[in-house]
Amino acid sequence: MRYISTRGTAPVLGFSEAMMTGLARDGGLYVPEAVPVLSHAEIAAMAGLPYEDVAFRVMRPFVGEAFDDDTFRGLIGLAYAGFGHAARAPLVQLGPNHFLLELFHGPTLAFKDFAMQLIGRLMQAALAQSGERITIVGATSGDTGSAAIEAFRGLPNVDVVILFPHGRVSDVQRRQMTTPVEPNVHALAVEGDFDDCQARLKDMFNDFAFRDEVRLAGVNSINWARVLAQVVYYFSAATALGAPHRPVDFTVPTGNFGDIFAGSIARAMGLPIGRLVIATNQNDILHRALTTGAYVMQGVHPSISPSMDIQVSSNFERALFYAYDRDAGAVAQLMAELRSGGFAISQGALQALRGLYASGRASEAETAATIARALAQSGELLCPHSAVGVKVAEEHVGAHPMVTLATAHPAKFPDAVQAATGLRPALPARMADLFDRPERVTRVPNDLAALQALVRERIAR
Ligand SMILES: *Cc1c(COP(=O)(O)O)cnc(C)c1O
Repeated sequence: MRYISTRGTAPVLGFSEAMMTGLARDGGLYVPEAVPVLSHAEIAAMAGLPYEDVAFRVMRPFVGEAFDDDTFRGLIGLAYAGFGHAARAPLVQLGPNHFLLELFHGPTLAFKDFAMQLIGRLMQAALAQSGERITIVGATSGDTGSAAIEAFRGLPNVDVVILFPHGRVSDVQRRQMTTPVEPNVHALAVEGDFDDCQARLKDMFNDFAFRDEVRLAGVNSINWARVLAQVVYYFSAATALGAPHRPVDFTVPTGNFGDIFAGSIARAMGLPIGRLVIATNQNDILHRALTTGAYVMQGVHPSISPSMDIQVSSNFERALFYAYDRDAGAVAQLMAELRSGGFAISQGALQALRGLYASGRASEAETAATIARALAQSGELLCPHSAVGVKVAEEHVGAHPMVTLATAHPAKFPDAVQAATGLRPALPARMADLFDRPERVTRVPNDLAALQALVRERIAR
């Protein structure tokens, strides 16, 4: 399987190289040259299988020659062994025809663990083959950073540097990043918002001299391997609810568009997904873009669902690539316009996007009210991100089963949940001492040169 850039001028790469590279050298994102299609019978055979078996069947065609079958199976097994639920991604029912897919049973209590735990193993295996040393730099609105640190801490040949927006992540999220003791973990509190962190990260990747000097590797959702790992639970959930014999709808709390883009790949592979609904909080650039055709930045307004407080939604570039019929030149042009504030989506591309995705938004008050109502009606305690999804999903429940992705555990956002319900969700026993561990963090200005100097200094240990 070969991977091409959405901007058309970066080298074509195999799976391992695309995974280690992250952002393409032309600034674009890697996508598979062709999406493999599974047969009706192959999809039907997934119903009821262990999660790891579904994962192998879904991801195998994308991995190509990078890993042999036994190695790949083994790494999948290790990736999910540490999850706190035997089903890995269990479904619970919220109401008539409406289900919740719990993606928060991994080690850091958010769906990011599904991809990160696997990528950690895959990268380690690839590095063991090549003997290389790499520096992973990630930007996070809270959950990617903790998941990446959990996946890479203590590994030989890897430093993991995480940029998070100072003061804008929850205490649990921050502590998951600042309390690991391993010397290869570097948590940096950037004086800015998440978009600043992501912009500085892209600046580092676009400085080729620096990129090569420190052997930069990326684990943000711009990394194709992360998207791929997230395709799996669409298959496990949909086949449990009757696919491929009947279609299933999904609603996805969305920020950087990685998770929902994985859903569109599942659909392209032949999984009968009816509606794929983008749910945004008050930072609703994606909902506005689909409604009006104008993708225009407006500034981030911090919310109770901070992992979705984003306005430059990186993976949307992948959706645009397909909506523009794989016209890399058109995508490069749009991304250049975005640097000066925004762009208009062409009529044809807008029609294509509306054919693939529906959308909705939840205000802060609606999010809090949904947390309270779900608890009263079904006994489910939702995190604020999942509540954004549930609220938008309720506007779209139709004839097919609707699955809302529950992207984080409520205990990761205890203040918002307590404000909405009066209940303070407890951390699972395995991380109950999180607030007793000492923190280690470095505060840095939102400045490329300062960040690069710090990365050089840290990896010279
Ligand atoms: C990352 C995250 C999201 C947004 O996912 P994207 O793939 O960036 O769209 C939603 N909820 C939670 C809890 C997250 O950590």
